[in-house]
Amino acid sequence: MEHKTILVTGGSRGIGEELVRGFAAQGHRVVLNYSRSGTEAEHVVQSLANEPGDVMCVQANVAQRESVRRMFDTVAERWGMVDVLINNAGINLDGPFLTMTDDQWQQVQDVVLTGPFICAQEYAKRYQGSRGHIVNMGAATALHGRKNGANYCSAKAGVISLTKCLALELAPTIAVNCVVPGFMETEEVMERFHLHDPAKRREMEARIPDGRLGTVKDIFRMTSFLVNEATYVTGQNLFVNGGQYMG
Ligand code: NAP
Repeated sequence: MEHKTILVTGGSRGIGEELVRGFAAQGHRVVLNYSRSGTEAEHVVQSLANEPGDVMCVQANVAQRESVRRMFDTVAERWGMVDVLINNAGINLDGPFLTMTDDQWQQVQDVVLTGPFICAQEYAKRYQGSRGHIVNMGAATALHGRKNGANYCSAKAGVISLTKCLALELAPTIAVNCVVPGFMETEEVMERFHLHDPAKRREMEARIPDGRLGTVKDIFRMTSFLVNEATYVTGQNLFVNGGQYMG
């Protein structure tokens, strides 16, 4: 396996943490980005000290241009080129559409959609002409919608379009793809949808053909396939949802 430098935004917990852990175990050099969870991020880095791959963490708010520039500069000074950018950072500020505030709308757009725009642009400006890969994290709800998520689903729909536009403009050197999770068992999702309640969990699982919630490992396996094996794949949505949504 060719070892790469992989930058994972939002790598301090949930799906991002699993991506950091999985790629470090494969021997890649991994940059764990976070914005506020420095303690969690440091804990993840320390716990990976014996893995074959090196891990460093870099604080940056993906929604702020200067912060993202500093992050890429820091990585370049230490490790040189970033081979793979994974735009994973995201937030949810759910609420009914009729009472959703401008701030609730804008904060989600900033992190979920503007973040990948800024990170992808800073990455591509630096490494255009070199072989690279941008993997965006989408969401199946961007395509089928859900109640209380007008801000989030709209932003993720933007991520799916952004993926296709960038795939066209950055080909043939930089591939751009989108991993599209369904309902994955991260603490954020378990709490937001009250899935620690066994009855609610059973109700959710009954709506999924595979009969279970997704795991962070399911997302890692698909992302690992893109990063390590896929060739001639760009501009695609790769669905990981147990058959709940068939794109
Ligand atoms: P999570 O557990 O809530 O973790 C989110 C991560 O993003 C954290 O590391 C957080 O770190 C970071 N983050 C948030 N705002 C940031 C910012 N402005 N700059 C940099 N980092 C920031 O999320 P998750 O459930 O693992 O989801 C990961 C991705 O998959 C998200 O894009 C999410 O929308 C998408 N997704 C998840 C599911 C699911 O079922 N879990 C389904 C569909 C899509 P800080 O606290 O330090 O900011």
